[in-house]
Amino acid sequence: KSENKPTWCPGCGDFGILNAVKQALADLEIWPHEVLFVSGIGCGSKLPDYINANGFTTVHGRALPVAQGAKLAHPGLHVVAVTGDGDGYGIGGNHFLHAIRRNIDITHIVEDNLVYGLTKGQYSPTSAKGFVSSTTPEGAIERAVNPLALALANGATFVARGFSGDPKHLASLFAQALKHPGYALVDVLQPCVIYNRLNTYDFYEQRVYRLEEDANYDPHDPEQAWQRAHEWGERIPIGVLYQESGVPTYEEQVPALAQGGPAQRPMPPLTEAEREALLAELV
Ligand code: SF4
Ligand code: MG
Repeated sequence: KSENKPTWCPGCGDFGILNAVKQALADLEIWPHEVLFVSGIGCGSKLPDYINANGFTTVHGRALPVAQGAKLAHPGLHVVAVTGDGDGYGIGGNHFLHAIRRNIDITHIVEDNLVYGLTKGQYSPTSAKGFVSSTTPEGAIERAVNPLALALANGATFVARGFSGDPKHLASLFAQALKHPGYALVDVLQPCVIYNRLNTYDFYEQRVYRLEEDANYDPHDPEQAWQRAHEWGERIPIGVLYQESGVPTYEEQVPALAQGGPAQRPMPPLTEAEREALLAELV
């Protein structure tokens, strides 16, 4: 627990995400010093402030490159990138594609409220076509980005979707993502109770169903995953859509990281002259 009190609006879906993150870390017995949260900018990107662990708030859209750099510097850390839908799929969309194909072992949580909340309600990359917002008073013209299909098409080895109104289930998805070796995406359906009056708790509660309760669903089958990634309407799947094991991570393929990352190596002893030079540089 952090001493900082969340400033999210009462009822915001981000509360469920924060609770689920804490639950997953507790279930896996991951200690605060063993995890780093890296966020961008947005309502949900305040999450690292509200959890007693290492945190780094970057600039808009840049959580993924910083998270990947941190993981390469210290492969022993659990690194979690936290972005919103605009942050992760719009401004940081390019980083999203390349993080997937690079397959560095990080967890990517996207607080997907289908709108820009912090900047007061503009339509976002995941807003539905026709979505009425402050910047689309006659309805959004573009079709929405499908993050799950994008991730699958780009070779992601762990693709999941959760719902912040079901934090117990969400915690189990986060735990599975944290354990998965490689880039793991958990897209979270997160109601914004202020700026998105379409995708509300009621909207999701009437539609979401758990994939693991469908006996015919196999999360190792890319064809089934592709088909469910496109299911959106009367029924919306949550759960692990796809998981593939045995794909090497980026860091496993870098010989220089075999002995750990730079942050894990002991500093070589400095001579007196080197120490003086270093101090002179720093002050
Ligand atoms: Fe949550 Fe929306 Fe309020 Fe932001 S504006 S804190 S996303 S309810
Ligand atoms: Mg958003």
